[in-house]
Amino acid sequence: MGSSAQECGCKGARFCALCETTERVRKLRVEEDKHTSYKVFVYVPARQLAIPTDNLNSKSSLQEIIDETDACHSTSAENAIKIDGLTLIHDFLTEAEESEVLEMIDTVEWVQSQSGRRKQDYGPKVNFKHKKVKTDSFVGMPEYADMLLNKMSEYDVTKLGNYQPFEMCNLEYEEVKKSAIEMHQDDMWIWGNRLISINLINGSVMTLSNDSKESLCYVYMPHRSLICMADECRYEWKHGVLAHHIRGRRIALTMREAGKDFQEGGELYEKYGAELIRLGNIRVPLNKTSA
Ligand SMILES: [Zn+2]
Ligand SMILES: [Zn+2]
Repeated sequence: MGSSAQECGCKGARFCALCETTERVRKLRVEEDKHTSYKVFVYVPARQLAIPTDNLNSKSSLQEIIDETDACHSTSAENAIKIDGLTLIHDFLTEAEESEVLEMIDTVEWVQSQSGRRKQDYGPKVNFKHKKVKTDSFVGMPEYADMLLNKMSEYDVTKLGNYQPFEMCNLEYEEVKKSAIEMHQDDMWIWGNRLISINLINGSVMTLSNDSKESLCYVYMPHRSLICMADECRYEWKHGVLAHHIRGRRIALTMREAGKDFQEGGELYEKYGAELIRLGNIRVPLNKTSA
């Protein structure tokens, strides 16, 4: 209470466990849960289908979603939908690879972000409003990038190969901080089609919503899985991670590629694209043992 300085990074309509009782957050008009009337689906990766279910609603817990994902392996596929561009790969990383990446990630300093998250950012500073890109603080991608990019190509060269990362960002979520990321779509000017997120330490749920179809789809992501959201999934659905779907600590290792204008032949290739690609090919060494 009172005027003590806010210790988290939240602004505007965002909040976390640290600021949820402040004046600013209490004054926010709590938005009605607009998803209560939406049709609910659960994504079953083995069938590559989103199966409609009456057993889940807009408030379902992580465990309820896990159980329903299992149950829907063998239920009727009547009225199931295919969400083009949604790919989920279980066990994308082995336990050993996960530990190796985590060890490197945890040698790097975390920066406070919003909604109870912390982040480590490798990429340009983007002013989305004024469409400006700054590269002075962009020194390259972390050294574990190649291992991940090679594995992506090995799994599915068409869907995940030839990935030229423009940005890599690690996002840390913690249950005690009520970390979340609100439903959103990623910027479509600078970032390209395929959004990648790898789940480290703990799994969670990617919640997808489609307002024109009034549909909600839960995608359970076990830890060490990779999700790719492209095409219809990227452009016609929103995505987010809800605070009550976080257990303990979770790190999302995310990657974004270049939008069309920034790729070779695009109108911003000369101005920004070429330099961003050059920087994206530099590797920042992360020594595991030295301080
Ligand atoms: Zn906060
Ligand atoms: Zn996003």
